[in-house]
Amino acid sequence: MTGVVKKNGPCHLNEVPPSPDTQHWARWAASEPEWAWPDGKSVAVTLTFDVDAETAWYGLGDEYFARLTSLSEGRYSVVRAVPRILQLLRRLDLRTTFFVPGWTAENYPHVVEAILADGHEIGHHGYVHSRTDRVSADVQREEIERGFSALESIGVPRPRGYRNPSWEMTTETAAMVSEYGFLYDSSFLTDDRPYIEKVGDVELLELPSHWSLDDWPYFGYTGDFGGNTSTAATWRQNQWDEYQIARDEGRNVNFVCHPEVIGRGYRFTQLAKLLEDILADGRAWFPTMEELALHVAPKLLPARSRS
Ligand SMILES: [Zn+2]
Repeated sequence: MTGVVKKNGPCHLNEVPPSPDTQHWARWAASEPEWAWPDGKSVAVTLTFDVDAETAWYGLGDEYFARLTSLSEGRYSVVRAVPRILQLLRRLDLRTTFFVPGWTAENYPHVVEAILADGHEIGHHGYVHSRTDRVSADVQREEIERGFSALESIGVPRPRGYRNPSWEMTTETAAMVSEYGFLYDSSFLTDDRPYIEKVGDVELLELPSHWSLDDWPYFGYTGDFGGNTSTAATWRQNQWDEYQIARDEGRNVNFVCHPEVIGRGYRFTQLAKLLEDILADGRAWFPTMEELALHVAPKLLPARSRS
């Protein structure tokens, strides 16, 4: 066939796509670590909150500087939702992990101080939540370095975990996560168990989640793109179902919440019910992400590359 150029499908490829490390993944897929959660628990439940606030919009472009209503929706996170969440966690006696962009920390230091005062972990979540696939390698580095310095400037212990804003990792940022010595990453989706993510020669201790375990796809809405306003009970049922299979498989389940999303009244009720149900089940260990990483790291070392 001549004279026809298909724009979609395999024939659009002008270059050979990069290949995964097939041996690494084949070896890992065949393995099943003995997780041995503390106190004989059956499942490790990590509950995480990404405190994006206004950076959820700043990361999409400078035009949001002038979009005050959009920004105010993000601000609900630190004004109303985080205090509500901290109160719930105190009532349930849970400590967990909050990923905080540097800009959020600089502008709402009292919120970060309140999180720390309750004994929660603070993880790295960029500076202004830039989509790493849309900016240069230099800007990717700036996101990490300014994120560190902003957190440090208000007394946050140096984060040991990294979660990529908007979950769109690049080769450059993956290399920087390794270079800056993070203990763990939470940005890839290759497995539903903790594992070693391999990007070229870079190997990251990965604590994965998934979009279906993230509240944003259920409730996220923008004036530009529309979105969803799911029933909160549907969200809770899905999270509970995943909890149950994670428990039955003896693994980890990693929930991702955004305070401005889950902290709305009727949704927050379902978050509280989910946690109460899990606690009543009596089978869950609730570590911070750092505690989970420290627990699984020795079990994952054999999965590291042997080359
Ligand atoms: Zn985020």
